[in-house]
Amino acid sequence: MPHASDIPSAGLCDLLQAVGQCRKKPAFMEALRALYRCVDQAAADQGAVCMGGGVCCRFDVMGHQLYTSAGELALLGSVRPPDMSRCDRDRCPYQRGPRCEARQVRPLGCRVFFCRGDLVRWSNETYEKYHRQLRRLHKTHLLPYAYVELTAGLTQLGEILGSSPDYSQSTSRAPLLLT
Ligand code: SF4
Repeated sequence: MPHASDIPSAGLCDLLQAVGQCRKKPAFMEALRALYRCVDQAAADQGAVCMGGGVCCRFDVMGHQLYTSAGELALLGSVRPPDMSRCDRDRCPYQRGPRCEARQVRPLGCRVFFCRGDLVRWSNETYEKYHRQLRRLHKTHLLPYAYVELTAGLTQLGEILGSSPDYSQSTSRAPLLLT
């Protein structure tokens, strides 16, 4: 799993700039939340249910990595992680016990991953579908796109985590508009 020290400095600068620009666009944040609602509805329609065991958030145990876009990091990072030291152990810093402390703003990858083996194909296809929309969403809002491994990205954001408006409590039902 790549860490901050593995990423070229230019990449780090680009990530911070990209996240910073996303944070300044509430309309983009609302559109991203609308996209997440579509993803959640797709999961519900599929009968996919999270059993809340939490092992999927322990990347070192599962042996998988979670990647996120700049916009997703901007939204997720509006909530301060309860334990940043977990990043050093290749675990998500938003997990407390088995639970996610950022459930309302968790990234796309978290929303489509389920333990059921028969959902693997659906998960992959759904991720690809909505990831394409994520890229278009950045483009529509004239925002730079970056795509990074979660713990490396959160480590880079560091002090700015939780310092932007907390978008997790937004009640807007703005529709998802992609051109
Ligand atoms: S953001 Fe939440 S659901 Fe996603 S890996 Fe972290 S704790 Fe798990």
